[in-house]
Formats: sequence, C-alpha cells, structure tokens
Amino acid sequence: MTFDRKIEDVGLERGVSRLTPERIETTIRSVLEGETGAKLKVYAETCMHCGLCSEACHYYMSHDGDPTYSPAGKVQQTLGEILRKNCKVDGEFVYQMAQIAYTECNLCRRCVHFCPVGIDTGYIMSTMRRICHKLGVTPQYIQDTAHSHSATMNQMWLKDDEWIDTLQWQEDEARDELPDLRIPIHKEGADIYYSVIAPEPKFRTQLIYQAAYIFNVAGVDFTMPADPGWDNSDMCMFSGDFEMMGRLKKRHFESALDLKCKRIVMGECGHAFRSIYDNGNRWDGWDMYPIEVIHSVEFFWDLISSGKIKIAEKFKEPITIHDPCNIIRGRGLMEQSRKLAHALCENVVEMTPNLEHNYCCAAGGGVINCGPPFKNVRMTGNRVKAEQLKATGVKTILAPCHNCHGGLEDLVHYYELGMDIKFFGDLIYELMEKPEVE
Ligand code: SF4
Ligand code: SF4
Repeated sequence: MTFDRKIEDVGLERGVSRLTPERIETTIRSVLEGETGAKLKVYAETCMHCGLCSEACHYYMSHDGDPTYSPAGKVQQTLGEILRKNCKVDGEFVYQMAQIAYTECNLCRRCVHFCPVGIDTGYIMSTMRRICHKLGVTPQYIQDTAHSHSATMNQMWLKDDEWIDTLQWQEDEARDELPDLRIPIHKEGADIYYSVIAPEPKFRTQLIYQAAYIFNVAGVDFTMPADPGWDNSDMCMFSGDFEMMGRLKKRHFESALDLKCKRIVMGECGHAFRSIYDNGNRWDGWDMYPIEVIHSVEFFWDLISSGKIKIAEKFKEPITIHDPCNIIRGRGLMEQSRKLAHALCENVVEMTPNLEHNYCCAAGGGVINCGPPFKNVRMTGNRVKAEQLKATGVKTILAPCHNCHGGLEDLVHYYELGMDIKFFGDLIYELMEKPEVE
C-alpha cells in the first residue's frame, strides 16, 4: 500500500525531526511490551483480512472503497508494519502512522460491530497514538489543547476568575427571565455536581444558561465547582498522554467528592463522558468511578419522565437524531435519547443506519481538534454522513455531543445541506412550560 496523502503539520514535522532510530525502537518496544498485553496480541494475530470491517468505516466508504482507509488497511499500515519490521521503522513512517492514527480514525468503534472476531481497530489506533505521543509526534492543534489543559486544568486556558465571572454572568442574564434563578457555586452536599467542557464558558454560554434555567424550574439541588476540575473534557485521552488524562480525571472526580455531592451530571458531550466512564477512571485504577456519573441525556429524561419539567408544545418540524458514538455505542443510551426525542418532537425521522450502527460525525476521537490542516480530511472522509443526513429530508438534527455539533456543522456547510443542529438542552429550554414572571 502506498501512502500518498501526506499533510503538512508543524507538530508532526517538528516531532519527527527530533527522532533517532534508537529512540523510535526503544519507545515502540516500551509501549508494546510494557503497556499492551494479550488484547493487542490477539487482535494482531487473529485478523483474517476478510475485509468485513471495511464498509463499517466512513473513511473507506467516502473514498469509494480505497483499501488504505479500511480499518484493517489502517492497521496494516501502522501496527502491521511495526511488527513486520520488528520495531525498526524510520521517522517518515512515524509521521505516516501519526497522520493515520490521529486524523483518519475517529476511534468511533463502528468497525468492531462488523468484525466477526471483534477486533477493535479504535483500540489499536489509540495504541498507535500512545506511541506517537511518547515519541513527541502529535498534531500541533490537539497538542496545544492538551498543553492548555495540563497547565491550567481547563483546555481553554480560562483563568479561575473568568470561570466564576462567566457563571455569575449567566446567572444575572437568566434572572431577567426567572428572578429567583441561582447557579450555586461550590455548594457542599448538593444532589448534583454539574460539569461541562471548557468550550461552554468560552463559546457556548447559552448552554450553561439553559441548563441553569431547566434545573431551577425543575427544583434540582445542584452546584458547579469553583475550583479547577470543573472542565470534564479530555484531549489528553486522544493525544495519548494517559498520565495527564489520569491527573485531569482524578481532579474532576475529587472536586465532586470534595464537595460531597451525590452524583455528577455531565453536559451534552460524548468524549468527556467516555473519558469518565471508560478511559480516565480505569487509568486511575477505578474499575468503576468513585461517584455516580450520568450523562445529560439520562438526567433530562429523568426530569421529563418524572414530570419535573413539562413540555408546553412539541417541536413541530420533522427532526432527525444523530447517535454520538461515545454515548450510544459506548454507553447504550439510545433508548433514553429516543424517549427524550419523542417526548419533545412530533415527528422524529430516523437516519439509516441508526442507533449503534449510525455513521460517525467524523469530528470525534480528537480528529476535529487536530485543527485546520486536517479539515478537508474530515470533510472528504465523511461524504457518507452528508448523504445520510440529506436522505432524511429534514432540516433539523438533534445531537447531544459537542464534537458531533462541530463535525456536523462543518459537514452541513461543506456539502450545503441547509440544516440546523440542536442540543437536547436547546429544545427543552425552547419547548418547556415556563413560569410566568411579572
Ligand atoms: S473511524 Fe471508526 S470505523 Fe473507521 S477505523 Fe476508526 S474506529 Fe473503525
Ligand atoms: S473484519 Fe476483522 S478479521 Fe476481517 S479484516 Fe476487518 S479486522 Fe480483520
């Protein structure tokens, strides 16, 4: 297989320029021998090259069946080559491995469902990223975000007082609509510790406003932390910096435990949820997390099914529902998301395929966070999603994940689909019965 699609990236270029043959070999061996076990060995030895995983992958489908984009093809070009060459690969190979692992796989794990022996290509690509991280060969944009999070405990480099100011600003704004509204900050013993990803206070403050409004009307006893730890996002998980991932997740859990909250409710994000229920917690040595964690989809459904939030009028226009991999394939919330969608909307049009077989947004797995150099990879690599969206014939998409929003918005513009994308919080706030204010 030839690799003829190299994209220039400052982080990858600089990283490779610092490598020596010895460093490459030692580092690869340290990861393969020290951090992987039977799982990777079984995956490497049991692939039958049957190609059944190929059509699972949106990159393969969107590139008209180019085998270099199939899951097994990507494994062959990375781990396969390492094993064939007994870890003696050069810098140019490392660049290619990084580009494939970071920007041509969303770690969405759709292919696992299609492989007859259950090979998890997402896990293999994560391991390739881990090697690249340890070699210092990572795309610049995602590394910048990982650095920001490492240095300030939030990926957007918000200062501690800016975070508090933003919460108080949203409380002030919302009081015009609901005079008694409060966003309790750093309250001990609350039922709910509400955490968000750092782009919410930075770019999407209306989501904090809406959540606060919904929680106040529903009478939820909640708090948001004042201390670092409030940002539940996790680019370190995707860059392969698992040490930092562990540190960040520990702080997130500990800030909820310090406040003696009963459970964590996470905003509408998928990757952050994955890092809490699957990756970060395990790296920290918790088989299960030390405090109950639920996603907004589950929490919103609780509020609506228990009657704490009533819907005044359902959304009338046809709407379709996207299935973010980390909360649907990863966590099985398809039933709650459907119940919620039908409670809010008159006409839910399902995508084909849907539920755990839905196509990926192509933004997740850190791919959108690799920045502008790789934007075209995401767009051309996900033509099938654009076609799937168009085939629904509707103009509105429900997507309970920040990464999916970013990816779907880009697709909508690139393929001129003329669609609008909403969070569940957007719809609940828009459609709920609101108390009258004099
Ligand atoms: S993008 Fe998804 S389907 Fe494609 S190889 Fe990666 S995990 Fe598998
Ligand atoms: S479906 Fe599984 S066994 Fe077949 S080529 Fe893909 S990874 Fe290998």
